[in-house]
Amino acid sequence: MARGGTASPKQTPTDWVTRAADDAIRHAQRLGSDRLITCASGASPSGPIHLGNLREFLTVHFVAEEIRRRGLPVRHLHSWDDYDRFRKVPAGVDPSWADHIGRPLSAVPDPWDCHTSWAEHFKAPLQAALAELGVEMEEVSQTERYRAGAYREQILTAVEQRGNIERVLSRYRTKSAPVAETEEEAASLEDSVANDEDDGVAGQDPALARFPYKPYCRDCGRDTTTVTSYDDESTDLAYSCTVCGFEGVTNLATQDEGKLVWKVDWPMRWSVEGVDFEPGGVDHATPGSSYTVGKELVKEIYDGRAPSFVGYSFVGAGGQVKMSSSRGGVPTAADALKILEAPILRWLYVRRQPKQAFNVDFGAEVVRLYDEWDALSRKATDPAKRDAQVLAFERASATASAGLLPTPDVVVPFRVLSSVADVTAGSAEQISRIVSHVGHEHETVEELEPRLGKAMTWTAEFVPSSDRTTVRTSPDAERLAALSEDEELWLAQLLDRMPDELDLAPITELIYGVPKLTRGLGVDDAPTEQVKADQKEFFRLLYNLLVDADRGPRLPTLFVALGSARVRALLGG
Ligand SMILES: [Zn+2]
Ligand SMILES: [Zn+2]
Repeated sequence: MARGGTASPKQTPTDWVTRAADDAIRHAQRLGSDRLITCASGASPSGPIHLGNLREFLTVHFVAEEIRRRGLPVRHLHSWDDYDRFRKVPAGVDPSWADHIGRPLSAVPDPWDCHTSWAEHFKAPLQAALAELGVEMEEVSQTERYRAGAYREQILTAVEQRGNIERVLSRYRTKSAPVAETEEEAASLEDSVANDEDDGVAGQDPALARFPYKPYCRDCGRDTTTVTSYDDESTDLAYSCTVCGFEGVTNLATQDEGKLVWKVDWPMRWSVEGVDFEPGGVDHATPGSSYTVGKELVKEIYDGRAPSFVGYSFVGAGGQVKMSSSRGGVPTAADALKILEAPILRWLYVRRQPKQAFNVDFGAEVVRLYDEWDALSRKATDPAKRDAQVLAFERASATASAGLLPTPDVVVPFRVLSSVADVTAGSAEQISRIVSHVGHEHETVEELEPRLGKAMTWTAEFVPSSDRTTVRTSPDAERLAALSEDEELWLAQLLDRMPDELDLAPITELIYGVPKLTRGLGVDDAPTEQVKADQKEFFRLLYNLLVDADRGPRLPTLFVALGSARVRALLGG
């Protein structure tokens, strides 16, 4: 019974985003109230930014959005680690690019010649996808920051404190070779491997072997440099290049020619940027990983506090993923957006705990995913049903500044759109017209977008040809000549009653009704066991004659999509 209109307030649902935002806010408030809260992401534009990397961006985005919703000042700061070294030439790229190994990603030319550098080539498509996903970030290029001398003071501090840094790092160093699972870990490993190798350089002061700063060679631009001396007074650093042989001196207080090694670079930026929240791959949080070490270093060297951290797991891809070889077969956000509405792609990431791994499926699952999403969007219209699932839907659907992200004005199930696209292989206009006749009335093609275009792309590019429907171009004369008595009767009944203009409800009734009529029942009568068996036979006959297969899309949809004249021609009428 209702309690006189004073229903107890429904508890506000919470999720991992709520908790991560709580932690970020707590972190910020320890450092002062009214502070701009910084949620940071970082990515190395060394290759295609795949769906796993997208988790870095979206994890931060959702947390920043939650903080913004609470009315607190917040920014999503994104670092492009484009000052990282180019490490290897991927398959499909001219092997002569090996010459650029050791140079910053921002200094390596674009092999495809469409951007100003290797780094820009891989940033651009992700930036476009993030814009479609409603992700707004303050972007920082680490090349620009380092080159502009933004970190000079912090570099000098790290170099001054190199003894302390080494004390911390050595505690975590193990002799067994660790396996790098991420870009940053690989970079970090290379730092330490390079330094370990340097232990043996003749005449090198052992104290310089693990120097926290690495200059890029002034002559050849590579980081294949060995520090040969450092003067704490003058801050002059002398190095020699193992590749080109150049010997030079760079002054850390006045020149900006190198970078801190990764394990020091990350905590340095936490302190400079005032980072309150930053996620990372789960492997970042294991003992000895960059986050654990960074947490100590930021305190020890910069008197700072590590941001609150969320470790996230792998995101893979499933189904038939058709990718061009130049992109290494790894699907990107842009690939997923070809078939998924932006809110649905966001939803895949926000509805799961970051530590849960998942796949983005490009195959038959797509249809189910759309159905699930449509069901959830109906549930979300009822305030009484607001739970954690609906909360995830809300986070996926809108952003604070952009509002609702694009979804179709007229929601037609993805299975209907893709099925009509499959049967007709036709234009958007043609599909739109048929969709109106199968119970989804609308005025213009635009009302079905962006879903219609995605359904067409999915059908054309992601459904294996064995699952596609091929409508016969001419009647199957042989089969038509060999019809049984029942079959002849069914077809005659059907063709006799089929109108020229097909609409879903009447044609459904007719197709299911024909076997009843031939058994002396009315179309509205409940089917007997005999009728059910006949229906099965009849439907198979129709599929045989129309699409040369034993099954296919729903028959009424198929009829409407083909139109009366074409159906008649193929059924011999
Ligand atoms: Zn390019
Ligand atoms: Zn050199």
